[in-house]
Amino acid sequence: MRYFAIFAALMSLILTNTAAAAAPNFVVVFCDDLGYGDLSCYGHPSIETPNLDRMAEEGQRWTNFYVGASVCTPSRAALLTGRLPVRNGMMSAKRRVLFPNSNGGLPESETTIAEYLRQKNYATAAIGKWHLGHLPEFLPTRHGFDTYWGIPYSNDMDALKGHPNYRQQSHVSATYMPSIEQYNVPIIHDDEEVERPADQTTITRRYTDRTIDFIHEHQKQPFFVYLAHNLPHIPLFASEEFYGSSARGIYGDVLAEIDHGVGRILDTLEELKLEQNTIVVFTSDNGPWLPFQAHGGSAGLLREGKGSTFEGGMRVPGIFWGPGIVESGTKHELGATMDLLPTFCSLAGIDVDSGSMDGYDLSSVLTGKSKESPRDRIFYWREEKLYAVRQGPWKAHFITEGCYGIGPKREEHETPELYHLEHDPSEKYNIAERHPEVVDDLLRFAEEHRRSVKPVTNQLER
Ligand code: MG
Repeated sequence: MRYFAIFAALMSLILTNTAAAAAPNFVVVFCDDLGYGDLSCYGHPSIETPNLDRMAEEGQRWTNFYVGASVCTPSRAALLTGRLPVRNGMMSAKRRVLFPNSNGGLPESETTIAEYLRQKNYATAAIGKWHLGHLPEFLPTRHGFDTYWGIPYSNDMDALKGHPNYRQQSHVSATYMPSIEQYNVPIIHDDEEVERPADQTTITRRYTDRTIDFIHEHQKQPFFVYLAHNLPHIPLFASEEFYGSSARGIYGDVLAEIDHGVGRILDTLEELKLEQNTIVVFTSDNGPWLPFQAHGGSAGLLREGKGSTFEGGMRVPGIFWGPGIVESGTKHELGATMDLLPTFCSLAGIDVDSGSMDGYDLSSVLTGKSKESPRDRIFYWREEKLYAVRQGPWKAHFITEGCYGIGPKREEHETPELYHLEHDPSEKYNIAERHPEVVDDLLRFAEEHRRSVKPVTNQLER
């Protein structure tokens, strides 16, 4: 009898491990306009994010983690497809993002993470901000997600006329919260409008609740949840429980609520004993929206913010948690949101056509099998132009420009500006003159990359 018990225990251990290797669950928590310096584990002095700090402590905290573009729509397209948005028409110089009157969206020809994971029977949910096309043919349910619930674009859209424009309210206090009626944004459930205006004071909590419900409902099969918070994009809203709770004004209250939600998700995974077989990723779509002053975030020591191809626009927090899969530690290697697709597919045993991808499989770094990231380059596109490239520690800027509305004006450089990002993360010291051979290499490298980009229909200008 005792032998049988030992045998049964061993078998269950083997089965559990086989299941773990076969189909891990993935939860991506994607914030809007949260900057590199906005979390306590990335050095913020007055914002408290204990749950994200715990994720970083137990998992991997990446310090060189990038997005595919420095604004919402193209950045989201990059994360979900593993491809630079300039390749699928999701980037434009005329209209930087999709608007409620746009007719375009993520083309059907693109394959999202959700569509790949469905090959292995994953349950898939998109919860939160979509911003890849609000017309029925572009919604998440047409792009591989079983279900969708959220605001289909930015939370400042559909602003009511006659109300003060938030953009002119730089004089408002750091604790100001508008009324929900000022922003007449809808909530879409699958493809039906279920609320308008969305009650944004409870939106962060409700996105978290829906994520937890989905995990409960699908705990017996592999799942992928794409939880894209609308906040801390302006206008900022917090629930009664969190409003006024932080030293950093309403921006800090919003982060406290997002952080609390992350903690509830981790607790749920542990209660359901799924933590050994799940990876939770936390990141942001672009840098802080600096013109909004105290209502915008912080890029910490990085230069500029949202909209810019300086580091503050495109380098973001990147935290991976998964106690059964992810080896803990801080990573200074290069990574990007575009790497999530090939990484998840690799861990789930799904083949990806790497020829069409701009993403790299980071699974060996996550699991601790390798110290070196397969990614050694970052391409900084803004509005259909290649502004800069990074290879290893070196970054060359061909065009520089600050955040929208503030910061340095657009300037094309005959001799690119050159920065060594490990020695000089704030991009203060242009050392192009001292390293002409590095500049030449990066120029050639950029030209090669430009030639790989073919013209496509622009979805943002439709
Ligand atoms: Mg954004």
